Amino acid sequence: MTRFLAIGECMVELAETGPDTYRRGFAGDTFNTAWYARKLLPADWSVGYASGIGTDAVSEEMAAFIAAQGIDTSALRRVPGRTVGLYMISLKDGERSFSYWRSQSAAKLLAEDESWLDNVCAGRKIIHFSGITLAILSPDHRETLCAALAHARAGGATIAFDTNLRPQLWGSTEAMRDGITLGASVADVLLPSFDEEEGLFGDATPADTVARYRDAGAQVIAVKNGGGDVTLWDADGLRTLHVDKVPQVVDSTAAGDSFGAAFLADLGQGHGTDASARAAMKLAAKVIQARGALVPAIFEGGGET
Ligand code: ADP
Repeated sequence: MTRFLAIGECMVELAETGPDTYRRGFAGDTFNTAWYARKLLPADWSVGYASGIGTDAVSEEMAAFIAAQGIDTSALRRVPGRTVGLYMISLKDGERSFSYWRSQSAAKLLAEDESWLDNVCAGRKIIHFSGITLAILSPDHRETLCAALAHARAGGATIAFDTNLRPQLWGSTEAMRDGITLGASVADVLLPSFDEEEGLFGDATPADTVARYRDAGAQVIAVKNGGGDVTLWDADGLRTLHVDKVPQVVDSTAAGDSFGAAFLADLGQGHGTDASARAAMKLAAKVIQARGALVPAIFEGGGET
């Protein structure tokens, strides 16, 4: 069994469907990536999700949902006295706005126990985490997680990092820069988004983003840029892949998360960087043409992805 693991926070999603009516779902950047990876990888791969959840009913419902998706839940750690985070999507005149409740989230304590983390990371072929995974942790726990990832990397795992810059989750810009640079220092595959890196690291071009993460030690870098070209870098050098812009984006949620899943699923199965990026672009283009983070319809009916 070849093993893929994503580490981070899955939250309860309440999406307004009408006046005072909400539909409950479960989503979160790294969880979305695990979900797409499960859809894409063959059955001889296990896909696991590592996080903290509470011991209350909604935490168990989340665990049951994750398991029902075919994702291994043995790396969900129960934290007594905590619960899972929640966000609400409100609709006003067709525009969506987000409110978050995550201060008591058990996921914030996912890196509390160093030996648990080492066990969870051991024997994985690919481990994926994000800037949000790091942002929700205390500075000490960030170090603990990155040490466990460095361990796993030394043991042969490929570590993938989607920087997902969310300034509001970090105490300061300086903390965010330090945390992201620490995360990048333990990663082989970097998945930044240019619009975020441009605004928060001052990169003038995607090539600047590549240079920064190459200097941090990455082996493969794919800089996403919305409907703009993807910039790739690996041992073969720098190149861009043209993205065919989707004429009508329905919902851009999980564009980057699904891109990361397809990119890693292909790389993990031995495909080249360019082919993997093309598969990632193709999947992300489908995801943004449907509502919601998780789009099961893409995989129904035996259609190729
Ligand atoms: P993130 O969600 O991480 O910010 P992006 O918004 O850059 O990521 O999008 C990730 C990928 O999704 C892009 O690299 C591209 O392949 C695809 N994508 C995003 N927006 C569009 C679009 N308008 N048309 C076609 N593809 C898109």
